[in-house]
Amino acid sequence: MSKDIPALQVEGMFKSFGDHEVLKGIDLTANTGDVISIIGSSGSGKSTFLRCINLLETPNAGAVHVKGELIRMKRLKDGSQEAADKKQLQRIRTKLAMVFQSFNLWSHLTILENVIEAPIHVLGVPRKEAIENADALLKKVGMYERRDYYPGHVSGGQQQRAAIARALAISPDVLLFDEPTSALDPELVGEVLRVMTDLAEEGRTMLVVTHEMGFARGVSSHVMYLHQGRVEEFGNPTDVFENPKSERMKQFLQRDF
Ligand code: ADP
Ligand code: MG
Repeated sequence: MSKDIPALQVEGMFKSFGDHEVLKGIDLTANTGDVISIIGSSGSGKSTFLRCINLLETPNAGAVHVKGELIRMKRLKDGSQEAADKKQLQRIRTKLAMVFQSFNLWSHLTILENVIEAPIHVLGVPRKEAIENADALLKKVGMYERRDYYPGHVSGGQQQRAAIARALAISPDVLLFDEPTSALDPELVGEVLRVMTDLAEEGRTMLVVTHEMGFARGVSSHVMYLHQGRVEEFGNPTDVFENPKSERMKQFLQRDF
């Protein structure tokens, strides 16, 4: 497929929980290799936005294209929506890998077993090949020596690096990170940010919800500031941080991070 097709395109995304409208019409285009940091106060809709992209939550309206392919939705009688084609949704989810704040590794599986699970059971990769690939990814994130440990027996930073290897194992087109370092002790944040910086430098397409302003400013290609479910500011990090147009963004940046 042409390189000119965006890796991810979101148009007019709305999401309400009951009568609380959380996303109020969000548009976003991520080209291949873009690293988009999503910043904003707690409750501004950052997690909901990521979750609506891979349909962990169903948006009330809006279109999501992954490498040009529209995720087909159908409207139900009560006005809500759901994926029209479960097979398509399952396939597209393998193109969008998510890394969560709380790691979400399976505690009863070793690190290696966590990484090979989806390749074997979702993608049908032969076990031997899945292990070879997993070992390469575990080396990349510095977790190869811990591959046979259970998640509960390694540090939070190591668990998150393993979760990143697991996300990479399905060869996704886009990586979605939801505050990947927020649950970590401060001394473990750097090792995870280093892995994410390596991925950015490799040209991976990433959406990163983060409070790490150093990462947003120094690593990302674009910054999106969400306020109450709207994109209040979007641009390259230098413009957004040094010359924000919005007053709210200025106030937000004055906070301690
Ligand atoms: P952020 O990640 O920016 O902190 P969230 O997307 O988690 O914000 O939440 C945005 C708003 O949506 C909050 O007011 C939150 O309480 C509400 N919300 C999120 N998920 C749900 C849900 N499953 N049910 C009801 N309200 C929700
Ligand atoms: Mg959140």
